Amino acid sequence: MKILVYSTKRWVQEFFTAANTDNRFTLKYTEARLQDDTAALADGYDGVCVFVNDNVDAKTIETLAHHGVKLIALRCAGFNNVDLRAAANWKIQVVRVPAYSPFAVAEHAVALLLTLNRKLHRAYGRVREGNFALDGLMGFDLNGKTVGVVGTGAIGSIFARIMLGFGCNVIATDQIQKKELLDAGVTYVPITELYQSSDIVCLHCPLTPDTHHLVNETTIAEMKPGVTIVNTSRGALVNSLAVIEGLKSGRIGGVALDVYEEESDLFFEDLSDEVIQDDVFVRLQTFPNVLITAHQAFFTREAVSNIANTTLKNIEDFLQTGSSENTISAEEGYR
Ligand code: NAD
Repeated sequence: MKILVYSTKRWVQEFFTAANTDNRFTLKYTEARLQDDTAALADGYDGVCVFVNDNVDAKTIETLAHHGVKLIALRCAGFNNVDLRAAANWKIQVVRVPAYSPFAVAEHAVALLLTLNRKLHRAYGRVREGNFALDGLMGFDLNGKTVGVVGTGAIGSIFARIMLGFGCNVIATDQIQKKELLDAGVTYVPITELYQSSDIVCLHCPLTPDTHHLVNETTIAEMKPGVTIVNTSRGALVNSLAVIEGLKSGRIGGVALDVYEEESDLFFEDLSDEVIQDDVFVRLQTFPNVLITAHQAFFTREAVSNIANTTLKNIEDFLQTGSSENTISAEEGYR
């Protein structure tokens, strides 16, 4: 089976080549991002392998179908960038990696929260320059604070447990209440109550029509003054303009982001010699109480290795049985 791996970086090639034991698949790597005008590169391939910022919309899928592609293998958990209905119409199967290391993402959310709160990113630069003053570096104790977890799936559950370990009061909202979390001390509350009570709001739900711009002008107004918001899920859960207004007014105390709504034009590339054209992103970066990482929460050796192995297993299952346990149905789609 011939697979074209889009949006390849050195580490993608390294881990996928290692996972492709006995060269059972023909993997061809391209740095190109999948979108309509690059879909024709997949001519002659049975499948494509894509990541979070490949644009697998209806037009792209139609082009892939015309070139004979039968499988779209996502090497990530989220699938909001794929038009699943279009894929179903063209009889292209879509598979994903539902859980490769929820620990990686939950731990990164904690790292963001600690860094933002204790201003480690600023302290690091200061100490290296011989500035040992503490002004502006004051944080707050996490112990005793209320942490609101939106979505207690694989990642949110781990994050909630870590926060319990810090001595936080953890409240959560999710359609599915997990008994093990209730037993551990998590309280499920309606989302409005979560916003009103939380010192820290952490987003761990998927991007769907219901969760698009979950954090907006109205919901920010419901949150505790000085709230810290952490988002490692998907950028479009947050309305960045509303966040900027919240930061300017002081209503929001801090924001840590690993994802950004318009990240596909920025993240995973070295743009250090270029002028960033996204004024909203640049404005966000000007706040001392904003910390942004470029979609790296998943980026641990364990996670990337699991991603490569599960993706190739999904492809193998598709080849042998015509389906995979990780096939996504059209009904699950965002569009
Ligand atoms: P999951 O499916 O295990 O859990 C998601 C949970 O959110 C589920 O329990 C679901 O019921 C809940 N949910 C859905 N809609 C909700 C809503 N409106 N309000 C509250 N809860 C809601 O997913 P996961 O593995 O925990 O991943 C969560 C998200 O993290 C993914 O959707 C993905 O977007 C993101 N993610 C980011 C990275 C990264 O590197 N930054 C890596 C992996 C996943």
